[in-house]
Amino acid sequence: MSSGFLIDMDGVIYRGTELIPGAREIVIRLLDEEIPFTFLTNNSQRSRRDVATKLNRMGIPIEEKHVFTCAMATARFLARQRPRGTAFVIGESGLINALHSNGYSIVDSHADYVVVGEGRTLSFEMVERAVQLILEGARLIATNLDPNCPTSTGTRPGCGAVVALLEKATGVKAFSVGKPSPIMMRAARKELGLEAAETIIIGDTMETDILGGVQMGYKTILVLSGTTSQEDLSKFAYRPDVIIDSIADLLNAPLAELSNTHCSTSSIPAVAT
Ligand SMILES: [Mg+2]
Repeated sequence: MSSGFLIDMDGVIYRGTELIPGAREIVIRLLDEEIPFTFLTNNSQRSRRDVATKLNRMGIPIEEKHVFTCAMATARFLARQRPRGTAFVIGESGLINALHSNGYSIVDSHADYVVVGEGRTLSFEMVERAVQLILEGARLIATNLDPNCPTSTGTRPGCGAVVALLEKATGVKAFSVGKPSPIMMRAARKELGLEAAETIIIGDTMETDILGGVQMGYKTILVLSGTTSQEDLSKFAYRPDVIIDSIADLLNAPLAELSNTHCSTSSIPAVAT
C-alpha cells in the first residue's frame, strides 16, 4: 500500500523562524520519490501562496499545491453548503481571498455567516457588528478553535479565543472547520487523492493533528519537537500510532510504504513509551 502525508508546520517543520533539523531533507525526499504530501495549517491569515513563499524562504522547495489551510477548507465548505453566500469576516487576507475565490461576497450587513479566523485587525466595533449579525440570524463559523498561537515573541490569542468571546456574547455555539474537524482532515486527504488507510498525519499537537487523524482512521505520528511533551500524553484518552523526537527520525524510514503498520513500527526509532 502506498502512503501520503498531511504535515503540520509549526512545531514539526519550524519553530518560530527556525527550521527544525531534518525537515528540509524529508521534504526533498518526498518530492524526489513523488510521494503525495501537503502542509496542513490551522492558521487562516495567509493564503497558500503566502505559506509556500514563507517555506521557500526557509529553504523548503515546495509549491502552492503543497499547502492546505483552514481558510481554504472553510471557504470550500461554505460554498458547498450555501453557494454564492455572504459573510462578515473577522480575519485577514488568507481567509477573505479564499472566500472570494469560492464565490462569496464580504458584507457588513444581512450576512449568511459570520466567519472568524486568525488576525491582528480585531476591534471592538467588529466584535459588536459580529454579535449583532449573529443575533439577527447569521451562522457563526470558526476557521479553527485553537485557543492561542506560539509566536517568536511569546503567545498570542488564537481564533478560538475570539470565537469564545462571540459565543459568550450571543449564546450561539460556533461550527469549526479546521483541524481536528473531519471536514478539513477529509478535504486535505481528497486533495491528495489518497484513501484513509494510505494517509499519515505528522503533527505536534494532540488536540488537533493527532485527534483529527485518530477520528479519520489515519496513521498518526506525534513529534515531540513542538507543544507536546512525553509527560502530556497521559492526559489524553487517545494515543498516536508512533511517537518520535522530531521529523529527523523519519530520515531513514521507508516513507512510501509507511502506512503499512508493520513497516512503521519496525523502521522508525520511536520514543519508548
Ligand atoms: Mg503544530
